[in-house]
Amino acid sequence: MSSSKQQALFKTLIGSLALAGSLVASQAQAAATIIINNINAAGIGFNDTTPAAPVGGNPGTTLGAQRLFAFTYAANLWGATLTSNQPIIINAQFSALTCTATSATLGSAGATSVFRNFAGAPKTGTWYSYALANKIAGTYLGTLNAAQINANFNVNLGQSNCLAGSPFYLGVDGNHGSAVDFVAVLQHEMGHGLGFQTFTNGQTGAYLSGAPSIWDHFLMGTATGLLWKDMTAAQRAASSLSVDKLVWSGPMVNAAAPSVLRTGDAGVFISGSGAGTTAGLHAAGEASFGASLTTPRTGQVMPVLDGTALSLACSPITGTNATAIRGNIALVSRGVCGFTIKVKNAQDAGAIGVLVADNAAGAPAGLGGTDPSITIPAVRISQADGVALLSKLTTRSRTGSTVIATLGLFGTKMAGADSLGRVMMFAPNPYQSGSSVSHFDTTATRNLLMEPAINGDLTQSVIPPLDLTYILLQEIGW
Ligand SMILES: [Zn+2]
Repeated sequence: MSSSKQQALFKTLIGSLALAGSLVASQAQAAATIIINNINAAGIGFNDTTPAAPVGGNPGTTLGAQRLFAFTYAANLWGATLTSNQPIIINAQFSALTCTATSATLGSAGATSVFRNFAGAPKTGTWYSYALANKIAGTYLGTLNAAQINANFNVNLGQSNCLAGSPFYLGVDGNHGSAVDFVAVLQHEMGHGLGFQTFTNGQTGAYLSGAPSIWDHFLMGTATGLLWKDMTAAQRAASSLSVDKLVWSGPMVNAAAPSVLRTGDAGVFISGSGAGTTAGLHAAGEASFGASLTTPRTGQVMPVLDGTALSLACSPITGTNATAIRGNIALVSRGVCGFTIKVKNAQDAGAIGVLVADNAAGAPAGLGGTDPSITIPAVRISQADGVALLSKLTTRSRTGSTVIATLGLFGTKMAGADSLGRVMMFAPNPYQSGSSVSHFDTTATRNLLMEPAINGDLTQSVIPPLDLTYILLQEIGW
């Protein structure tokens, strides 16, 4: 820093990293120039010399070269989207981040410094990320050519004891299969570094050096109706644990949300002359496999029975049970075997949809599992709804019941927004350090780049109708 005046304007968040080995700078040319400083030592991370076969549009022949190529590719995606007359400099390295057999920190990134009250700052007394402050100021704040973003990626990914051996996919074509798409991880981490984060401590509610972040001008707790910039620290701390009551209030993100987020909640609508008291809409848990509920599926409900009890459907469905569910919607019980096994058995017997009745009380959760061969829709219904439906099926024929179910999406609420259409931010209870507040909520559908975990169905787009990340960054000043 060159003067005490400048010092008062910014705060370094992360200690500057010593450059190890020779500096390799790759430049991504676009509407904004992103410069990647590879700060790994020789032989490590971006410099790993392990031979690698070119994959998915990535021509690198070593692990390190492929990692760096993917980073440059992802930086080009951001660079083509952003505008800034100042270069965006990223210090990047592979290092050992948290990893267990079942979960991993894929990467972490953030602004190296924040600035306030610089020339042209839209809000006074408010922290902006380094790269955003440079863009707005139109000049290089702080130390010329100091890195604005620090990014770390998990060097342990791919080892057998880390995330079950699932590696980073280093191709740039999105065909990651069951591996973790490194381009998506890079886009996500750069998103944080560009400013997709609050610098306020969400756990304590304390501002950074007494000032709110630009993020806090848009973050609203709907329990109080207050923006974070207008709350007490205690109110912010409570808001960060409020689950579905922390939203983004900005008009740009919320105007774009309907073009990105799916409308409607999963449900089962029961009708027909045999429906009796079960007629009407029932909540349902969505399956992670099978046909989407975007296209409703309607049919007569027929039970799969073991004697008089609802069957677990863990074995192939034959005989009168198969006759009953052919061309109809099968009702089976949760338990013993996986959901995909039950639904596949019903599909194989000719069912056009499946209701899995819960075997425990409470609101129905989803149906987990993966089986690409399942092409019919399936949902979980509550135990109580299952019992009630079964009671209405006693007068059925061998092939029909006059109890009709429609599996689909109902209502006008967007998945990932509250009832007023405001996009929800991630606010789990208990607090998740590194994830809470500075991400979109995990209920968002379609999945968004800036959810706390990388989903397998992300595209490389950061704009509507595929994503909301860039709209949010624009809203805070990009
Ligand atoms: Zn993140």
